[in-house]
Amino acid sequence: MRLTKFTDLALRAVMRLAVSELSGPSTTREVAAAMDVPYAHMAKAVTRLQHLGVLEARRGRSGGLELTAPGRQASVGWLVRKLEGAGEVVACEGEPPCPLRGACRLRQALRDAQEAFYASLDPLTVADLVASPTGPVLVGLVGRPPE
Ligand code: SF4
Repeated sequence: MRLTKFTDLALRAVMRLAVSELSGPSTTREVAAAMDVPYAHMAKAVTRLQHLGVLEARRGRSGGLELTAPGRQASVGWLVRKLEGAGEVVACEGEPPCPLRGACRLRQALRDAQEAFYASLDPLTVADLVASPTGPVLVGLVGRPPE
């Protein structure tokens, strides 16, 4: 199974913000630079994460993005499900739709495999993802100067 680029960007943002006590307050532009991704793409991921209640933006001098308490403890499986949406791994209902779609054992097997993939991520929290060795690397990421 392959995650969308959007999900990957959102997870990168979450991991970076999970170490913000050590790396300092971050804006969307700083997160994008640290993760070496285009600002516009990161901005869309940040907006989605805000809607999910995983992070919030603080205004003012010491403002910036930060994880919410529920966001820090969020299950990675839950988060990936939300970011990926309800789509199946195969486009059975595509154009043209597959003639087997109403009675396909493979389709059900793939649905089961997809759920098993998500379930394997359920026990992990966002906080778990930034344990060593990932956390120290995240703290050291500075990125290119903002565009
Ligand atoms: S063969 Fe089954 S899994 Fe593949 S596209 Fe058709 S319905 Fe979907």
